[in-house]
Amino acid sequence: MLKRLEIAGFKSFAKKTILDFSSSVTSVVGPNGSGKSNVAEAFRFALGEQSMKSMRGKRSEDLIWSGSNIAPRANRAAVTIVFDNRARIFPKLEFDEVSIERAVFRDGASEYAINGSKVRLRDVQELLASANIGETGHHIISQGEADRILTAQPRERRAMLEDALGLKVFEFKKQEAERKLERTEENVGQVEALRREIAPHIRFLQKQVEKLERAEELAKELRAASQTYFAIEEAYIRIERETTEEAAKEATGRLRAVEAELALFEERATTDSEGMRRSEAVRQAERNLDRITAERSLLARDLGRIEGALNEAKKRSVAVAREPYVKIPREDLAALKEEVDRQVALVEGAEPGAIHAAVQSLRNAMTAFFARYAGPADDFMADEEVMAKELESKRETLVQKDAALTEETERARSELSNVRERMMAHEETGREQNRRLLDLADTKAKVESELARRSAHLGQLDYLAEELEQNRREAVALVGVNALSYEPVAVLPQEDRRVQEDRKRSMERLKIRVEEAGGSGEDVRSEYKEATERETFLASELEDLAASAAGLRSLIADLDSELQKSFAEGLAKVNASFGEFFGLMFGGGGARLVLEEFAQPGSEEEDEYEIETKRKPNQKPGIEISVHLPKKRVQSLMQLSGGERALTSIALIFAMSQVNPPPFLILDETDAALDEANSRRYGDMIENLSHKSQLIVITHNRETMSRASILYGVTMGADGISKLLSVKFEEAQAVAK
Ligand code: ATP
Repeated sequence: MLKRLEIAGFKSFAKKTILDFSSSVTSVVGPNGSGKSNVAEAFRFALGEQSMKSMRGKRSEDLIWSGSNIAPRANRAAVTIVFDNRARIFPKLEFDEVSIERAVFRDGASEYAINGSKVRLRDVQELLASANIGETGHHIISQGEADRILTAQPRERRAMLEDALGLKVFEFKKQEAERKLERTEENVGQVEALRREIAPHIRFLQKQVEKLERAEELAKELRAASQTYFAIEEAYIRIERETTEEAAKEATGRLRAVEAELALFEERATTDSEGMRRSEAVRQAERNLDRITAERSLLARDLGRIEGALNEAKKRSVAVAREPYVKIPREDLAALKEEVDRQVALVEGAEPGAIHAAVQSLRNAMTAFFARYAGPADDFMADEEVMAKELESKRETLVQKDAALTEETERARSELSNVRERMMAHEETGREQNRRLLDLADTKAKVESELARRSAHLGQLDYLAEELEQNRREAVALVGVNALSYEPVAVLPQEDRRVQEDRKRSMERLKIRVEEAGGSGEDVRSEYKEATERETFLASELEDLAASAAGLRSLIADLDSELQKSFAEGLAKVNASFGEFFGLMFGGGGARLVLEEFAQPGSEEEDEYEIETKRKPNQKPGIEISVHLPKKRVQSLMQLSGGERALTSIALIFAMSQVNPPPFLILDETDAALDEANSRRYGDMIENLSHKSQLIVITHNRETMSRASILYGVTMGADGISKLLSVKFEEAQAVAK
């Protein structure tokens, strides 16, 4: 599968060097420091190794040929691995040959190419993973690294094994899912915090909107109530005014008739100069009386209006006193409730003394509360009283004026009847006529007082009209001009006037409620809409997040069980071949990997502290190596000789590599510590392995060399440049020295 390696400018390979791998075992030999290990590193490099340390460098510059006394330094190190893909070991690439190339430059930039096309590192990694060539390079065992698997901590060892079993992919997936889950949970927290944050605002807005809706409901009610009231009131005033004016007109007619007849009497009385003089006196007296009467009539209308207003005020204050409900601001109620709750809570299970104190405070709170809301006077009544007093005093003035005018009328009347009598005496008018004259005067006075009454009533109606106008203005201000769009009423309903007064009162009550409900709406409404939309959005986002968290959790669980299963299976397989290889190497005995044991909870000899430190929940057990050598009682790795350690680690590395055989395996002087007998066994092993993976062995070992079909010698001249030559087995030993 591995066809060729091309190295140019990489480390000591200053010039382009090509290694062909046409056989299953290729050996690279050469003296110390000639550049053999650089070949193994060239593989690592081309496969995308990111750790400089595992290529024995600090910066990428260290990988580029650094020049010598003869040859100048290079600016670019490039390595290409060419694979035979006829068996489609890279199933995604429809080419019989696949080359992977990587180059670095002195500025540290890396370039990757697959079959000559530039690609990203990730593309290379994905391609390699598809052929079970891990980026972690567990199939390239560097010089001195074989031992690492023995010296490693159990947990590290487990990681190596997982890597060799190809479980890293799952592990990475799991880690990614865990990271995502963590982020998702963070997001859930944030969204929840946001929701908590806006919740009170939404509640507040909702209350506002509800209030607004109540206000609208009330406004509607008020509109309807006002319309009914206005229609009836308007009709009432109109009809009353018409009737009264009609009656007044008729009375005025009667008055005119009486006055005409009286005038006739006076005319007849003016036959001589004395008569003239007397009748002039009568007319004078009559004019005087008429003037006073007219003044009284005006006064009566004013008085009527005032009395109308006074009447309404009285009705209102009576109504308020009879009002069945008391208005209490919500916050006062809440404060009272809080106090009651607080005291009740204090009292529960308390000493009698404390109970007494609580009852005392409760009584104080209640007394203050009732004094405030159940007391007889409230502001409205006080206002009304002031107004009523004002009206009363106005009326008093008018009544006094009226009394004065009445007196004056009386005086004027008796004056008139005196002059009339004198006139009659002079005329010697008949008895009959005399009586008629008195009758007329009497009738006139009656009609005049009737007119004054009518005038007073009209005055009252004037007041009602003004009040109606005022109410209409208020209604328009509160609920809009619609308040005035109603059908006029032609015929008054058959009802007591008090019914209409009740209507007015309930309208007044509604007005107060509408005023209190108040507030402008559209801002709140749109803000509420926005806030609820946001809340809905957050809620659905939360749902989505919860769903994806659940998905991630089950993905993690799946990966976990898959990991566990694959790991257990892999471990069993590795153990089977580990035991086998070990037996082969040592000519008997046994070895296996065992899961690290944790202290069992509840085991008697452990005290609690130790259980705490030894057992870490959720931590996967590490791997320990258990060996027993044939004919020896050595059981611990620590007690093995250097060669035995080398054999054990080789057996393990081989076993691990055989579960998921990689296309090739590079072994850099893994056999350095073996004696002749073990070298032979190692050689057998290599032949064995070469059936499954292509092997490239870097070695000084004669036995190992003898198993290879291709031998490359690496030498380094005075120019510091590694050179490659194909050698025969017989030459190889010489080159290796
Ligand atoms: P041994 O048998 O002792 O393990 P080796 O054949 O594996 O030796 P390497 O370690 O592969 O030898 O080669 C090391 C040589 O490569 C050293 O001489 C070193 O100077 C040379 N070398 C390493 N990096 C560069 C470089 N960037 N430019 C030039 N020469 C380099």
